[in-house]
Amino acid sequence: MDIRVLEKYARLIVKTGVNLQAGQPLVIVSPIECSTFARLLAQTAYKEGAGDVTVHWKDELLAKIKFLHAPEAVFETYPEWEKQLYNGSVKAGAAFISIAASDPENLKEVNADRVAKAQKTASMALKEYREKLMSNQNTWCVVSIPTTAWAKKVFPGVQDEEAVAKLWEAILRTVRVYEGDPVAAWDKHKSSLKEKMEFLNAHKFVSLHYKNSLGTDITVELPERHIWLGGSEYTPDKVEFIANMPTEEVFTLPRKNGVNGIVVSSKPLNYNGNLIENFSLTFKEGKVVEYKAEKGYEVLKNLLAADEGAMYLGEVALVPFDSPISNTNILFYNTLFDENASCHFALGKAYPVCLEGSEAMDANSLLAAGVNESLVHEDFMVGTADLEIVGTMADGKKVLVFKNGNFAI
Ligand code: ZN
Ligand code: ZN
Repeated sequence: MDIRVLEKYARLIVKTGVNLQAGQPLVIVSPIECSTFARLLAQTAYKEGAGDVTVHWKDELLAKIKFLHAPEAVFETYPEWEKQLYNGSVKAGAAFISIAASDPENLKEVNADRVAKAQKTASMALKEYREKLMSNQNTWCVVSIPTTAWAKKVFPGVQDEEAVAKLWEAILRTVRVYEGDPVAAWDKHKSSLKEKMEFLNAHKFVSLHYKNSLGTDITVELPERHIWLGGSEYTPDKVEFIANMPTEEVFTLPRKNGVNGIVVSSKPLNYNGNLIENFSLTFKEGKVVEYKAEKGYEVLKNLLAADEGAMYLGEVALVPFDSPISNTNILFYNTLFDENASCHFALGKAYPVCLEGSEAMDANSLLAAGVNESLVHEDFMVGTADLEIVGTMADGKKVLVFKNGNFAI
């Protein structure tokens, strides 16, 4: 890979992604396979005035060994030092860059209960970190670069090196690094998302009704004072940042108890090193009352059983079927990309920033306003070429929001 292109990508992440401030500490969470790029990110951050840069290495093969061989009790406690790294760094005002790059089926042979237990332990230990990020108190950015195992899943039957090259190409295109001035390209992209947000915010829909030929037929109520967001976000100090690169979505939160009907997945979901495929969820008054999956049923069951809130929706996101990532026709098996190629929902915790006035609300009043709370937040894809979404306004007026998979506005 051309070093100049990588430098451009690293600079885009540090400047536009987390918008690193002078002297600010930075935490980079990176798979060991991505070490070269993680070092480049650290170097770029120092050049741009970072304080201390900490890299937290992840090793998915070692994680698999641990899941296969460690005693059960290991998954019930979370290391104090790691807790301190995340929770201590949010307190110190750090920015966070995560490199999401994993083998989608790394944990295929592992007992799903063990993975679920470890996931729950980690979520509880890192509650403070998660809450700070989900309410934009700290800047954060999730990005990807290829690993061989991941690239081979995306491009089966292709030699290792070629698969990695093809995945690099796809990633760099979707994050606009090939444009002459990526920062300017992102500014333009942000304003196009803003148009959609303004339309949705102006209509103050009380509900959205989704329908397509896969069998999706679901009504999602939106709480009063919900806000559609997209593109960039802001910390309380008005530091602008982009939480996901790429991002093509505009999103808000549903009213926790206001979801009724059935939703059918339109892409496989990579969850905790396993795939859940061709699944459907039936909701009644917000809660999942029935679910099916052709593949990964146990994994889905564990996701839903994480806690009470995992059985309710926490995000409603709109992405046109005709959009840059979707048009690559690549199934990435990585939610960062697949969710940005498709309308999606998330099970679990809602982003409080999607509710006007949430900064001043405590946990109970957030819940009363319909903001779901959970240890998990897991996006899953529902968009198709024939998806239709009709919005209902407070006065009962119906507005076609999506037709044939795309915005009808
Ligand atoms: Zn989303
Ligand atoms: Zn999400």
